[in-house]
Amino acid sequence: AEPEVPKKPGLLGRLMGRTAPSEPRRVLDDDMLESLEEMLIAADMGVDTALRVTANLAEGRMGKRVSSREIRELLAQEIARIMENVAKPLPIYPKKPQVVLVVGVNGSGKTTTIGKLASQFRAAGKKVVIAAGDTFRAAAVEQLQVWGDRAGVPVLTAPEGSDPASLAFDAMTKAEADGADLLMIDTAGRLQNRADLMEELAKIVRVIRKKDDSAPHNTLLVLDATTGQNALSQVETFKKLADVSGLVMTKLDGTAKGGVLVALADKFALPIHAIGVGEQIDDLSPFDPEEFAAALTG
Ligand code: GDP
Repeated sequence: AEPEVPKKPGLLGRLMGRTAPSEPRRVLDDDMLESLEEMLIAADMGVDTALRVTANLAEGRMGKRVSSREIRELLAQEIARIMENVAKPLPIYPKKPQVVLVVGVNGSGKTTTIGKLASQFRAAGKKVVIAAGDTFRAAAVEQLQVWGDRAGVPVLTAPEGSDPASLAFDAMTKAEADGADLLMIDTAGRLQNRADLMEELAKIVRVIRKKDDSAPHNTLLVLDATTGQNALSQVETFKKLADVSGLVMTKLDGTAKGGVLVALADKFALPIHAIGVGEQIDDLSPFDPEEFAAALTG
């Protein structure tokens, strides 16, 4: 059968063009492995991960003839294997309200993701409250309100410049009073002043723990696929600022294929709860390792 022509060229697509069925099989040698490694590194997979993936692929196959289609399938298998353990939807806790702190740099897609998640949980019959914890950015608060309206979920706000922790406390009170299942708290993403941000996040956590010492139940880090390798340092930084429990990667609908997710899975093994695949409310999908690996290598 004619191999499928990928919509967006992936790794091998970019390097070799589409594979014709008549394409001669090549001997898997050091040169070929090296260009595969380079390709994976160029796809933001990170050096360590790229080397391991190619080493696994080469095992028992050196000196044998392979087609680029076989290489693609083997690569996809290796990548899917690394990713299969991190693909996990946001866990639901019996505790009410389940508190989800959402962190990430400005522009990563926090607001949009909160709106999409709120909509999904609401559709699943959950009662949701959102707190606009980035009180220093009026535009961020407005935008969150727009998303709250879209999702049909109340958004708690506080005057510009007020203390995010006191808003978080009020939000806990409201979420409890309303019998909400889920409270999502947006936070500031000003990495320029890390010490301040760390103190701000720590204070939010301290305050909500006064109400529920098991909260926050999740700390979701939102990453933008278009930042490539930068996502690695963002995870490192936010892990120092907050107790990150899982990831969402946004903007995987564009040209970015999110190769850095493989490096992240390999290095941090944090769950990937969802991926953003567009700007509309329904554009949040579960992370599917096989689909992801196929798109990445396609
Ligand atoms: P925040 O500053 O982290 O709250 O980021 P926003 O939620 O405001 O998102 C920043 C920009 O990215 C907006 O223009 C969003 O529409 C866009 N965006 C967010 N998620 C996605 C996604 O999954 N795909 C695309 N194409 N755009 C997204």
